[in-house]
Amino acid sequence: MRKAFKYRLDPTKKQEQKLFWTLARCRELYNAALSEWKDAYQQHERTQLLVNTETGQVIVAMMVANKRVRKVSYYEQKRDLPQIKDLREEYNDIHSQVLQDVLLRLKRAFDGFFRRLEQGQDPGFPRFQGQSRYNSFTYPQAGGFSITHDNRVCLSKIGSIKVKFHRPIEGTPKTCTIKYEAGQWYVVFSCEVEQPKPLPMVESEVGIDLGITHFAALSDGTFIESPRYYRKAEKTLTRRQQAVSRKKPGSHRRKKAGKLVGKAHRKIAHQRRDFHHKAARKLVQQHQTIVLEELQITNISKRAKPKQGENGTYLSNGAAAKSGLNKSILDAGWGQFQAIVSHKAECAGRTVLLVDPKYTSQVCSQCGTVRKKDLDERWHSCDCGAELDRDTNAAINILRLGRSQRDRKVA
Ligand SMILES: [Zn+2]
Repeated sequence: MRKAFKYRLDPTKKQEQKLFWTLARCRELYNAALSEWKDAYQQHERTQLLVNTETGQVIVAMMVANKRVRKVSYYEQKRDLPQIKDLREEYNDIHSQVLQDVLLRLKRAFDGFFRRLEQGQDPGFPRFQGQSRYNSFTYPQAGGFSITHDNRVCLSKIGSIKVKFHRPIEGTPKTCTIKYEAGQWYVVFSCEVEQPKPLPMVESEVGIDLGITHFAALSDGTFIESPRYYRKAEKTLTRRQQAVSRKKPGSHRRKKAGKLVGKAHRKIAHQRRDFHHKAARKLVQQHQTIVLEELQITNISKRAKPKQGENGTYLSNGAAAKSGLNKSILDAGWGQFQAIVSHKAECAGRTVLLVDPKYTSQVCSQCGTVRKKDLDERWHSCDCGAELDRDTNAAINILRLGRSQRDRKVA
């Protein structure tokens, strides 16, 4: 099984220059290789077109054929690499496997393009990559890089760069990708790790309502709270965002302030991810079956904006009421949390069920009566005598829905 480990890099000024330089050369190679594909593709297309429509006009088709129409292949381009190095000596300063990987990326882009064409779709032609889009290069084999004992990564043709190992790396590193993201350099190791053993079976099943007051309410009546440091980090973010807007556009100070905003964003994202991992691990250890609300875009956009696949929009119960809240933070969070829970459950031999969240907070979990509530009504009390937290009530309904969905499938 492959697992990715991502760390911050701390290059020296000189190393950073080399990283930027390498990235620029890779991008240049990518675009050059793409233009070769593009020419071939267009000529190929034209030949077919002329032959098909203008029957008998062999001469025209011959003219096109004279341009030596041929299909480009990854392997041919790979064979051309030494020649490129002769023409452009600076390419000798980049590890050859890194260059091969650039061509491989392009091949994958075209594989996807042709696959979609065959499926009758109308895919966009693979695009030329601008500076901001093309932001990484990869050492595809262990020979090109190594991790040293003093917490550095040694990259062929670049040198040894300090890595901030905030968590230990596991397994055997197979590939190493260097990435530039929001003003920071990162290294991502893809490691071969052993498939984790499934956890011993447990009886427990749980329904989970992801919410605002609590991060999550569980059907057993407990809650998972959002960590306090969120709020602190968010305050810092707001303050820094305001600082940016006070600086003159285009000024050096504004740029500097913008960098701080990026830093605050990264910190929040990192903390959130960490918290999600911990919460998910605990859930998966304790429960055999975990039932969550379905966060699918199709499900959601139907109610918010028809047919507009607005990314990550999440409206559960009381769509209108919730849409006014600070969604973006919740959206990013819930989708990620669900993905992490699903992944961990799969590795541990646990089951995750997703159910339609409709009405889960309105229906009484004890008698099934619909009891409409406003969003600020935090308590569920029903004529049948049910008295419980609104979100706990929803979580119990979610669990019930999950069970009945499973039973239906079995039957
Ligand atoms: Zn009731």
